[in-house]
Amino acid sequence: MPTPPVCNYEDSDYQISFWDEGGREYEDRTEAIALKRLLPKSGRLLLELGAGAGRNTTRYPDFERIILLDYARTQLEQAQVRLGKSDKCIYVAADAYRLPFVDGLFDAATMIRALHHMADAQKALSQVRNVLQPGGAFILEFANKLNLKAILRYLVGRQKWSPFTLQPVEFVKLNFDFHPKAVRNWLKQLGFEIERTLTLSHFRVGLLKRIVPTGILVFLDSLFQWTGALWQLSPSVFMKAKLEIGEQRLVEIPANVISFFKCPDCGHSPLVDKKEYLECSSCKKKWEVRGGIYDFREAI
Ligand SMILES: [Zn+2]
Repeated sequence: MPTPPVCNYEDSDYQISFWDEGGREYEDRTEAIALKRLLPKSGRLLLELGAGAGRNTTRYPDFERIILLDYARTQLEQAQVRLGKSDKCIYVAADAYRLPFVDGLFDAATMIRALHHMADAQKALSQVRNVLQPGGAFILEFANKLNLKAILRYLVGRQKWSPFTLQPVEFVKLNFDFHPKAVRNWLKQLGFEIERTLTLSHFRVGLLKRIVPTGILVFLDSLFQWTGALWQLSPSVFMKAKLEIGEQRLVEIPANVISFFKCPDCGHSPLVDKKEYLECSSCKKKWEVRGGIYDFREAI
């Protein structure tokens, strides 16, 4: 089953070069504020899609368990070091286009700075829909092509692509910006109701970031986030959506982690726990379990 190309952060020092030393404290802190505003008060099982090195994971303290999913195994290894080993965090290396979870498993999911790398955003979002419970919360961040800078550049002829069209723009290979209306349409088509929209990083301007103290920019941004309900012209947008399909009820979450999974190739569940791998009794594929990471990218 062919899936779209994946932007792979394997062996990347992204956490250090982009976040820790990349002058992005402002963006990181504004995301923390948005997450606080949008996250459900508590929950049982949260899926963090594109978790990377676990930068945001500690911002979900009121969830009983969290599955960190990333395509890059080395990112998850960094997350293990950062978060320590506990039963609360479960690490899964997998392709967002073929999620290895049984339907309706999670009561919440987040996808932050990950849609940005999806060549087939609709396909990835439909996978999220499948694994969420009816009534489940989905917090999605995306890069906004309709941002003020892109609009100005387009209007003065310094940028060829139009920020006003609904098509995603791939400005660097496997880096996509989306139109807010297109994202809204996709979510609605999949059965989500959008409850809130926040805009972020209003002051992502190099000069401002250099001369204005970060705390002040973060505070100002937190005041402006609410305007996302009216218009979205900032480079980053957060949406909180609720899955409206199906009957809302308290779904039992299995105690045994193995029963969360299905075979990403044939869809069969449950998988058989062979300690060093999980085996699909239907298609016979084996999925590696090593160093506390369940690996569903390629069968062994
Ligand atoms: Zn199978």
